[in-house]
Amino acid sequence: VYNFNAGLATLPLEVMLQIQDELLDLQGTNLSILEISHRSKEYENINEETQQLLKDLLNIPSDYEVLFLQGGASMQFAMVPMNFLTEGRKASYLQSGTWSEKAIAEARKFGKVTIGGSSGHAHFKKVPDLSRVKIDPETAYIHLTSNETILGTQYQSFIDTGKVPLIVDMSSDILSRHIDVSNFSLIYAGAQKNLGPSGVTTVIVKRDLMENIPKNIPDIMNYRIHANSRSLYHTPPVFAVYIVNLMLKWIRNNGGVKAIEKRNHQKADLIYSTIDNSAGFYNGLVHLESRSMMNVTFSILNNKIEKLFIQEAEENGFVGVRGHRDAGHLRVSIYNAVTYEQCQALTDFMIDFQKRFG
Ligand code: PLP
Repeated sequence: VYNFNAGLATLPLEVMLQIQDELLDLQGTNLSILEISHRSKEYENINEETQQLLKDLLNIPSDYEVLFLQGGASMQFAMVPMNFLTEGRKASYLQSGTWSEKAIAEARKFGKVTIGGSSGHAHFKKVPDLSRVKIDPETAYIHLTSNETILGTQYQSFIDTGKVPLIVDMSSDILSRHIDVSNFSLIYAGAQKNLGPSGVTTVIVKRDLMENIPKNIPDIMNYRIHANSRSLYHTPPVFAVYIVNLMLKWIRNNGGVKAIEKRNHQKADLIYSTIDNSAGFYNGLVHLESRSMMNVTFSILNNKIEKLFIQEAEENGFVGVRGHRDAGHLRVSIYNAVTYEQCQALTDFMIDFQKRFG
């Protein structure tokens, strides 16, 4: 089966086999990762090592903390304003589609939110123009969503927000391309696309951002509490963190982020060029300059043929090609674990399908 699902990533076969191999006996302990204590030496090592692997892969500067939390990226939508949108302040959010709008709706429950840029006028088929974003030094932070998973748009670059903290939801493109972490004050990402399974959310946060967190918010929602206890404030999702550990080693062993980025470009170029060379049989849903390298969305001539495409794709082992219910049409998600060969098999199928129905 070729897995092009958007919600949950495929894990590389090597990683799956290692999980299977170690499931009953983690590193000679005769215990499973599922049953060891999170206070054990073994888990302490996994926790520390996983943080270090991410620091190494993303060249995270020493004044940042790496946290592993629960609650998904959706909990971050609430935690970010709870911690940083303090009394009397305002935050600026860039509106680029469904996920950024969810973040905005949560932030509005805590304080004043301004829309620093929006692509609503283009029905979110592109990302907001960052060159037009005005940076008010009084803003508590600026928030954006680097990749909108549903319609398949992605910022190709970011802005320098100076002293105003830039906070980014990277749930669907973390570790898919090189980024300069020092441009951001906080990055969050649910693990379940590029990093591992659902159940753990990675947060990379600059230490100085955590200096003025209000004391009256619940401890479980307080970044400083998690940072001070090295993500062991309460029982962590040990199995998910362990899989992230294996996934990060897989990325490292496959040449690191630069090599993964190159491969991701090749995968996306292959599928987009098949769409663009189809003489209008396939049509990309979003503007060229905002196309996502992770989620490729497109339509086919008409609804009937699209249904047939989905059906035939499934019969041929391509799963997850149906578009999100809000966007319709088709979407193939090509996260880090999807191989070039799998994309090649898909484009061969697309070309053959066009020959028969074009
Ligand atoms: N942000 C983005 C960009 C997403 O793609 C998703 C889920 O697909 C979320 C946030 C929500 O993540 P979670 O389900 O981990 O809460």
